[in-house]
Amino acid sequence: MGSEVNPFESLQEQIDEAAEYLDVDEGMLERLKNPERILETNLSVEMDDGSIEVFRAFRSQFNGDRGPYKGGIRYHPQVSRDEVKALSGWMVYKTATVGIPLGGGKGGIIIDPDDYSEDELERITRAFAKELTPIIGEDRDVPAPDVNTGQREMNWIKDTYETLENTTEPGVITGKDISSGGSEGRVEATGRSTVIAAREAFDYLDKDLEGATVAVQGYGNAGWISADLIDEMGANVVAVSDSSGGIYNEDGLDPVAAKDHKRETGSVVGFADADEEITNDELLQLDVDLLIPAALENAIDEEIAEGVQADVISEAANGPITPKGDDILEDKDVIIVPDILANAGGVTVSYFEWVQNRQRFYWDEETVNERLEDITVEQFWNLVEAYEEHDLPSLRVGAYVVAIQRVLDAAEQAGTWP
Ligand code: GLU
Repeated sequence: MGSEVNPFESLQEQIDEAAEYLDVDEGMLERLKNPERILETNLSVEMDDGSIEVFRAFRSQFNGDRGPYKGGIRYHPQVSRDEVKALSGWMVYKTATVGIPLGGGKGGIIIDPDDYSEDELERITRAFAKELTPIIGEDRDVPAPDVNTGQREMNWIKDTYETLENTTEPGVITGKDISSGGSEGRVEATGRSTVIAAREAFDYLDKDLEGATVAVQGYGNAGWISADLIDEMGANVVAVSDSSGGIYNEDGLDPVAAKDHKRETGSVVGFADADEEITNDELLQLDVDLLIPAALENAIDEEIAEGVQADVISEAANGPITPKGDDILEDKDVIIVPDILANAGGVTVSYFEWVQNRQRFYWDEETVNERLEDITVEQFWNLVEAYEEHDLPSLRVGAYVVAIQRVLDAAEQAGTWP
């Protein structure tokens, strides 16, 4: 599964494609395609047995024209400098697509967190937080969770930063636990926008979501919440998967029970209600109405794309479709809600968290969810408008056209100095 396509090259291709529809000069285009700066650091950390292990970590600050750099921190063996660069760029165009006043950044550590104890993970995280402290801050760069990180890691980073800076500054990081200044609705937000965007896409196509069949690839936070929420909307989740494989039941699976099974055993595979075990590639090519890729980049390359049968794809993951895969799906008239809108709920509620932290005044869950819904629906139709008005090849190009223009406007207003 997955292909070797370099995600940073994919990002640059996506920007180039959209730039053809915009009036951008070459120098400015270079600026839009490359990170402003990258921290690369080697963290030496003491393990439980007294030995020292070194972990390579990155933080890419891609673009701050529209506000502080913003984006998650990923713990995964596949993290690389180019992956972090790509993910940080996608954050720039994500925050611009949804119109929140933030830039884009991303961080990562090359690590398989399953191989380490909680104490070791805390020391690794705090070692990274110490390196990040001089370059982050609520007006500078605001990290958040990503693959294999969550409230626990955010709380450690916040505490390390606040201790070293001798301050309280909860807005330095988002995705925190509620008791540490987190927001209601943040944990569910990525899945929530993914399914709201899918619902709007069905509406656009005049398709009924009630009873529609859904396959979800990846069963981490974004995947399982998407499955749960789309099931609540009346759709039928027939297949889900994780890195160990997938399960299928044509009558539908219970998303919460599948998640509980994964929590207990480490995988959805083996879940009693499944009729059949399938591979991730098979899941992506099932004859379903809606496909939600919620794992890593490059899940759908040109080979997989040839076999995709879904009518709608809502991208909960970042960069799940390669540019060549995209071309094939475009020819097949598959409607793809691009990652930079579909999964933007995470960063949108991070923005709400940051606002609440700065105001020291907190909203209830209903307010958070309503505001997220309003932004996602409004920006979805905004993309549709751009797509139709300029006769663009896809909603993805529509999103980039809208987003690049917003970044350009801010960059031009700021000017270049010196
Ligand atoms: N890691 C998430 C993303 O890729 C959330 C980022 C954030 O909340 O800043 O969008």
